[in-house]
Amino acid sequence: MKHIAILGSTGSIGRQTLAVVEAMPEWFAIVALAAGNNVEELAKQIVRHHPELVSVTTPDLAANLAERLRSSGLAKLPEIQHGSAGMIAVATHPSAATLVSAAVGVVGLEATYAAVKAGKQVALSNKEVLVAAGEIVMAAAREAHVELLPVDSEHNAIHQCLRAGRHIEVKKLILTASGGPFRKTPLAEMAVATPERALAHPNWQMGRRITIDSATLVNKGFEVIEARWLFDMRPDQIEVVIHPQSTIHSMVEYVDGSILAQLGPTDMRMPIQYALTFPERAASNEVALDWSKLRRLDFEKVSPRRFPCLRLALESLRKLGAYPCAFNAADEVAVEAFLDRRIPFSGIAEVIEQVLTRTPRIKMTSIADVLAADSEARRMAREEVASKAARTAVA
Ligand code: NDP
Repeated sequence: MKHIAILGSTGSIGRQTLAVVEAMPEWFAIVALAAGNNVEELAKQIVRHHPELVSVTTPDLAANLAERLRSSGLAKLPEIQHGSAGMIAVATHPSAATLVSAAVGVVGLEATYAAVKAGKQVALSNKEVLVAAGEIVMAAAREAHVELLPVDSEHNAIHQCLRAGRHIEVKKLILTASGGPFRKTPLAEMAVATPERALAHPNWQMGRRITIDSATLVNKGFEVIEARWLFDMRPDQIEVVIHPQSTIHSMVEYVDGSILAQLGPTDMRMPIQYALTFPERAASNEVALDWSKLRRLDFEKVSPRRFPCLRLALESLRKLGAYPCAFNAADEVAVEAFLDRRIPFSGIAEVIEQVLTRTPRIKMTSIADVLAADSEARRMAREEVASKAARTAVA
């Protein structure tokens, strides 16, 4: 029986992790859960999974949660903590063997880092952890002999394909991208697309931020950065190809020219289960690829004009220091402004580029350095958004 803690249990990945856990009661039990603000959902999860410890963002929400649980008639309340200390307590819970890191944004970084240092196995979904602090987190993982098991379908696919050969035999990793909702939209129309259109992803049901990041290909840029750290590859060994069906989740090309691909349905329960049961594989009747519906597999090159954010991600990976962290922070602020209709869709790439231009060259040696660079980049991004919004209002 493996004991599991989850950061971001109320989110899309968090809920699907709980679905996997629930479908495999002989394998897994929940010991700790951290959510953000959704106490209603967290209360339901507590009643179902009986964790020993939970955490929410503020003391008020912690009190609200306790009240809800008392009135639900729950016999024994879990310990309820809050804030970043609460997230760290969940991530390092003494009986947890595995942490599923599935909060969204850099808010999950400190707690995930603490879990790595504590020697927990980490099933990693929260991509901002490696995007913002890849070098530091991987150094800690090496020191603690912790393997980060990727939940994200692309890295999960690569993790599986890499089991076929040795590191030195790998020529390159090929990350597939669906191309999102704007793969064929005329560029002028795409520049002013509404949040509703950008949120209509053709293949995947995901949280709001990652859905917009898939429309700009920022998400694929994150994945290139993550792949560099997870699999210890040079940036020039990582290629992105558009594959609209999202059936091939990613591929590995070996030096002899042989390419291995992992295929599966667009259902995150499969990579979540793989990361939780690794190195074993467990039977699953829940998720299967329906061959009768699989007619074709198409591939296209990424257009740099249509997807400038991918170029910006690669530039920030080349420069390292604070750049990947600033890339993520600027994007988070810009996506929020886009969803609030303060900037147009094309403004997301512009805000990121402006923030990267203003980012200083510095060396990052600690998580505190990363968090400082993150808040500085956010401050600059908010300035860029405000000036863009003011110009749009005048026009
Ligand atoms: P969601 O937006 O659905 O969920 C985010 C989770 O983080 C929620 O539980 C939310 O809590 C919690 N959270 C948000 N802010 C805070 C905070 N300040 N403190 C503590 N917890 C917080 O995101 P997803 O599940 O879609 O994505 C999670 C991560 O996984 C992201 O990094 C994403 O890029 C990555 N990912 C997601 C995939 C997917 O299919 N969804 C695929 C691959 C990667 P609450 O709701 O209670 O406020």
